[in-house]
Amino acid sequence: MKLTYIGTAAAEAIPGLFCECSFCEKARKLKGREYRRRSGAVINDDLMIDFSPDAYTGTLSLGIRLNELKYVIFTHSHADHFSLKELEYRRTPVFCVLPEDREKLKVFGNRNIEDGLKKYYGVYLPDQGFEFTFVPPYVPFQIGQYTVTPLSAHHCPPEDAYIYLIESNGTTLLYANDSGMLTEPTFEYLKGRKLDIVSLDCTLGHSLHETGHMGFKANLKVKKILEENGCIKDDTVFVSHHFSHNGLRADEPGEIDWTYDNFMEMAKPHGFIMSYDGLVIEK
Ligand SMILES: [Zn+2]
Ligand SMILES: [Zn+2]
Ligand SMILES: [Zn+2]
Repeated sequence: MKLTYIGTAAAEAIPGLFCECSFCEKARKLKGREYRRRSGAVINDDLMIDFSPDAYTGTLSLGIRLNELKYVIFTHSHADHFSLKELEYRRTPVFCVLPEDREKLKVFGNRNIEDGLKKYYGVYLPDQGFEFTFVPPYVPFQIGQYTVTPLSAHHCPPEDAYIYLIESNGTTLLYANDSGMLTEPTFEYLKGRKLDIVSLDCTLGHSLHETGHMGFKANLKVKKILEENGCIKDDTVFVSHHFSHNGLRADEPGEIDWTYDNFMEMAKPHGFIMSYDGLVIEK
């Protein structure tokens, strides 16, 4: 399984669209890994997790082509993950030219994703180059080589936001954003399953809060519980992901700005790495 991070920031990106905070100014100077697009990832070349407003520029700059994309799974309907208008450009023949026998893009998500698509596309929904399927939480479904299971996350109730367990050819990925501390039913579902890659929401960075989003302390808590529950192997890769300038910035005495280098140095002893735009993990 080849997991490529297309974007790794929260909604306003880093540097923030209109922000002049000290961290965003630092990011503008350092560039490179301090620049973060809105979050999303692609597995191999055919399964995309979320379609962010930066999906176009992100895939273009990383050399990822979307003509072979077969599936998109959405975590939730916040605009930084669900750029629903972009899906329109999958329509043939006007917006893209593809072989006639190319199957429609298959799109999956919760009821809010379904409602959003119905509202935007209206009666033209069946004419699009994609087709939507509602998927309930905790029920695995098969798409090509992938077994995908949506798990409920505590992020934006009453919406049932999902994180995803994705299994393919003996490799298992837990892709978890946006989420607060993982829910009891989710920990219960994961019990005893061996995870190869664990990608966790770290929007809140330095903060100890764990409602709606997580900070690094909450990431450590998740790791500990997964270890106790028998989910971890010797070579499991833990990734902190989905960052906000507000979480990375040193606001309190004793904190330092969590630039890429600083975060990696801090996180390494805990067995975590920091996602960045273009990070590839192969397992
Ligand atoms: Zn987000
Ligand atoms: Zn900022
Ligand atoms: Zn969100």
